[in-house]
Amino acid sequence: MTIRDDFSDSVKEQIRFLSGYRCSNPDCREKVFYISPETNRKINLGVIAHICAASPGGPRYDYSMTGEERRGEGNGILLCAKCASLIDRDMDAYPVGLLRNWKRMAYANAKKEFVFLSTPDDLTRALSVIRELVRVFLSSYRTHGKVVPEARFRGYASMMFRLFFEDLPVEHDYDNKVMCCLRTLDMISFNVLENVSVRVSHFDRSFPRRYDLFMEELGTYSIDIQKNKGRILDVIEETTRCMFMSEEAFCMNKEENISHQS
Ligand SMILES: [Zn+2]
Repeated sequence: MTIRDDFSDSVKEQIRFLSGYRCSNPDCREKVFYISPETNRKINLGVIAHICAASPGGPRYDYSMTGEERRGEGNGILLCAKCASLIDRDMDAYPVGLLRNWKRMAYANAKKEFVFLSTPDDLTRALSVIRELVRVFLSSYRTHGKVVPEARFRGYASMMFRLFFEDLPVEHDYDNKVMCCLRTLDMISFNVLENVSVRVSHFDRSFPRRYDLFMEELGTYSIDIQKNKGRILDVIEETTRCMFMSEEAFCMNKEENISHQS
């Protein structure tokens, strides 16, 4: 009997997640899941293929590998059913190095795309994390002066969306994040809320670290940020408006605020 080094369910799920639930073939990139409209269950359609075969005689089998390596995360690649059979039937066209390269790119793209599919439950949880992200972000700066109701909150929300989901890729380093946040605070205070007297008097240095934690948590939910952009903008706008109107984020006592800055 031949021993096969198959992947465990948890290794398979890890590879699916890190690959963004898409086929890793850069010319394909097919989504490999289906959400059942009846049960709302996520059904996986992809295949976790062995880069080096699970048993001797299989495609790209590597005698030098240990069983542990063969069934480890490093030896699996997520493909759609079509690409999975292609790489095994036309072996010479798809050598180990190429497959490893596909996988590397798939992981990098998944990180950029961030998250991938939507179930109503995930969306609800993700939106509450986004709400908290905005709240923490806003409470890290203080303003004084008159807040006018017609301040352009939608524009504000769009800028925040860009900042959180586009301008700050996950791999950005700490200093860049701090700079990005400060730049955005400046932009907001000078361009968007031009009717409001805003002064950045305090920046919460812990924001970048907290941002990472929010993003990490968001990454555990399956939501498509671009597809849900409208909903996300609504949440950012509503939270921002709410915080401005209640002035929860800002120092209400002008004298105290000014004296703190002097
Ligand atoms: Zn494919």
